[in-house]
Amino acid sequence: MKSFLNVFIVLIILTGCSDSQAHKEESEEVQEDVLEDEEENVEGKEKNNNGEEEQEEEEKAVEESPAEPEYIMNRVWAFEPIDDASEEVVLLTFDDAPDKHGLEMAETLHELGAPAIFFVNGHFINTPEKKETLKEIHDLGFAIGNHTMTHASLQAISEEEQKSEIVDLNDQIEEIIGERPEFFRAPFGQNTELTEQIAKDEGMLLMNWTYGYDWEADYQDADALADIMVNTELLVPGANLLMHDREWTAEAIPDIVEGFKEKGYKLLDPKLIKIDE
Ligand SMILES: [Zn+2]
Repeated sequence: MKSFLNVFIVLIILTGCSDSQAHKEESEEVQEDVLEDEEENVEGKEKNNNGEEEQEEEEKAVEESPAEPEYIMNRVWAFEPIDDASEEVVLLTFDDAPDKHGLEMAETLHELGAPAIFFVNGHFINTPEKKETLKEIHDLGFAIGNHTMTHASLQAISEEEQKSEIVDLNDQIEEIIGERPEFFRAPFGQNTELTEQIAKDEGMLLMNWTYGYDWEADYQDADALADIMVNTELLVPGANLLMHDREWTAEAIPDIVEGFKEKGYKLLDPKLIKIDE
């Protein structure tokens, strides 16, 4: 979007060189918009627009109202448009966060304007520093999901432990970011009837994934990973993409985002996903 606007500005400036005052004003306005976009990105929050134009007030009002769901998850964890939204989307998700690279990954994604869900493990938010890291990731605009307290195999532990793995983590996350997660992903994708019920009771959408590669030896390399994530034959419209808080994944993010853009896919904003049945 930004590069498109930059090209647009250059075009306007070039065509405006002849004589037109109107063109000049237009280009200044566009430049202002770009600057505002950049400031908003850097701050990660809305500015106080007092005294600015009516049109901008309207845009702000739209931003503040909760988004209507535009996508629904299907039985194989991929996303389908509810109405007339585009089918050509993929959802980026990052599990086992925030370990060593989560914040850096969130910053990269934020710069690229790429939405995603970070699925958090309780054992990665057990120090004041790591709690702050989680808050920073959330403040950058990313959805926070529950990936259990200790990354236990939920099918191998007692019912009481299953509940604690999920609900206690939601309590902790809420203390840190001020809201409970809306998404749940079980470690290894292993659920029980009880964990499915707990996720539902907690108001979370339970998901596994469509495909992922970053834990395989062949793809623990940024170039190889970026290539397979975008060019795998498993790619389908609405695909739910599993990645992790890992060094090579962090490094591959710009190429993955660019690769999907080149293929005509948009990155699905988790805010547009329907949560309740
Ligand atoms: Zn995991």
